[in-house]
Amino acid sequence: MANVNVPELFGSMVFDEATMTERLPKETFKALKNTIKNGDPLDINVANIVANAMKDWALEKGATHYTHWFQPMTGITAEKHDSFINPTDDGRVIMEFSGKELIKGEPDASSFPSGGIRATFEARGYTAWDPTSYAFVKDETLCIPTAFCSYTGESLDKKTPLLRSMERINTEALRILRLFGDTETTRVNTTVGPEQEYFLIDKDMFDQRKDLQFTGRTLFGAKAPKGQELEDHYFGTIKPRVLSFMQELDRELWKFGILAKTRHNEVAPSQHELAPIFTTTNLATDHNQLTMEVMKKVAKKHGLVCLLHEKPFAGVNGSGKHNNWSLSTNTGKNLLSPSKTPMKNTQFQLFLAAIIKGVDEYQDLLRISVASAGNDHRLGANEAPPAIISIFLGEDLSKVMEAVACGDTEYTDDIMGRMGMGVDVLPDIKKDTTDRNRTSPFAFTGNKFEFRMLGSALNIACPNIMLNTFIADELKQFADELEGSENFDADVKKLIGKTYNEHKRIVFNGDNYSEEWAKEAKKRGLLNLRTMADALPHYIDAKNIKLFTENNVFSEREMYSRYEIQLEEYSKVLNIEALTMLDMAKRDIVPAVTGYVRELADTANSKKALSADINCDAEIQLVTNLSNLTSCFVKKIDALEKALLKSKDITEPQALADFYRDEVFGAMQELRAVGDEMEISTSSEYWPYPSYGELLFGV
Ligand code: ADP
Ligand code: MG
Repeated sequence: MANVNVPELFGSMVFDEATMTERLPKETFKALKNTIKNGDPLDINVANIVANAMKDWALEKGATHYTHWFQPMTGITAEKHDSFINPTDDGRVIMEFSGKELIKGEPDASSFPSGGIRATFEARGYTAWDPTSYAFVKDETLCIPTAFCSYTGESLDKKTPLLRSMERINTEALRILRLFGDTETTRVNTTVGPEQEYFLIDKDMFDQRKDLQFTGRTLFGAKAPKGQELEDHYFGTIKPRVLSFMQELDRELWKFGILAKTRHNEVAPSQHELAPIFTTTNLATDHNQLTMEVMKKVAKKHGLVCLLHEKPFAGVNGSGKHNNWSLSTNTGKNLLSPSKTPMKNTQFQLFLAAIIKGVDEYQDLLRISVASAGNDHRLGANEAPPAIISIFLGEDLSKVMEAVACGDTEYTDDIMGRMGMGVDVLPDIKKDTTDRNRTSPFAFTGNKFEFRMLGSALNIACPNIMLNTFIADELKQFADELEGSENFDADVKKLIGKTYNEHKRIVFNGDNYSEEWAKEAKKRGLLNLRTMADALPHYIDAKNIKLFTENNVFSEREMYSRYEIQLEEYSKVLNIEALTMLDMAKRDIVPAVTGYVRELADTANSKKALSADINCDAEIQLVTNLSNLTSCFVKKIDALEKALLKSKDITEPQALADFYRDEVFGAMQELRAVGDEMEISTSSEYWPYPSYGELLFGV
């Protein structure tokens, strides 16, 4: 690839602060910044000036259209383009864009899921500009990040509740900081760095597989002779074709101001990872959505397909996303940095206590936030953390919290010892994490928590809405209790200790993949919600509704709608998968195998015709075996069809989801098992699909 000036390229397609400084009158820029920083309402005159400047800039970047870019509950991003053209009296057009068009859109968009919030006949949905996320030009279109809500003001998207939750945690974290005498900080933001895993496969092979096209994962496929067991792909040398994809990807992302930083091969063959430098949650979310989109586009240009499904292939690792999460102040401090003496860092301990309490009380919400039909294949399958939520603190920090909990103010332990030797506590925590806590779903990694249960396709807004909201709520309870305290130093220690004692069951520093842990977790009373259908009903548990309504992040109606939408999505995904399997089985696999059997039988007959003495045992054995398998396969097809038929009688959404989980999915698994056995006995010339070996090692 040609040389590139990265600083010049970076953000070149973004209407960012540098561009605004350049292009907006000082007063306008100031007013806009007040809106961005403090949420002040934006004056329409200001909006008009901003819109015009944006348009002029976008035209220079080749844009002809604009769109309100939003994130409906489908989890992906949506856009509806409008051109800038406006007719003039002389029969021509000029390019125009008003403040009104910038601030508010009426995309109608009545076909997006709303979980009963909108009937389609009153379809109006609004998009509203989110000035905290910069506009950008993509595909000759000016994209304006927006929130999407109903006519009655209920959120229909992932951004609105995320912004609400960020406000909540800001408010409560500031109260805590004031208690510790911090009068400087005026804003606390949550920060996120999402590590993104993905597969790259050859486009020609992808085109031959209906399962990948319709569902994103392979529904049939016998294991290849080689998988990931040699671990020779992880961090391996990157193949030229993949590298050229990665180079173009980085450049495209940089143009959008996305801080693409790390790229490497992952554990499974054909699997890779991209990690950006962290930023504020709202931006990180928009950027991650954009990253996934750009990955797919750039892959196509290289004759590849980027698979973001959580489990495209059975038998090798699926893809996840690690949500690295922390809290930082506008003065540049990371509130989850334990400093060199965590034992003396009461403020850190208090934030930690809030997180421990929150994760323990809202395990169900964290589990729900990563629930999808695809991610069910990973959680608990010894490749991703189990469906049981626990926190890894590491030995050092656990000891500190234990000491506070039992009032041992003298505790120094070897943290101090090591520190005396001039060694920072962080490297020790880090050392712990690399060896053991790759199995932990929620691990403290030095100055942030890494939530590792996310599937690769997920919109990261969901887990961050949950985290921000329940931690804000815990901080609020702490602030309420401590603000009136007459003996703050003693009371805060007592509160930290009490909280830790009450919630330390959620702390687990051992191997999360082990069976003992599943047993131990059960003893501790921790939840183990294996599938999406198991997890979702907790959405509307009284305590969760109370949490979200009291914090003004969701109304009760919004929660019911989200619960319903997700339930339906689960059933729909499984239904599409089942139908795709049936299509493949009946129209491709059975005819292919029958054809091969015919060839074997014809061969045997021709041999016999030549001479009755020629040995035909092999053909006979193969024909017998494949005929038996085909007969069994057809029975499994029948069973799956019956299950699907039965599902039509179920109208209640939760019952339907349960039915898909128990009956339909089971029937799919059985059909697949026979199909995969047929594959390994059928000539590759006859088998209608590229094999796992070709898919995984073909790039
Ligand atoms: P790993 O060992 O998990 O690969 P890395 O050092 O590569 O860890 O970091 C993973 C991610 O964590 C990166 O995206 C990084 O930017 C992010 N990260 C680092 N510090 C913070 C923070 N304070 N808040 C949020 N994310 C952070
Ligand atoms: Mg990581």
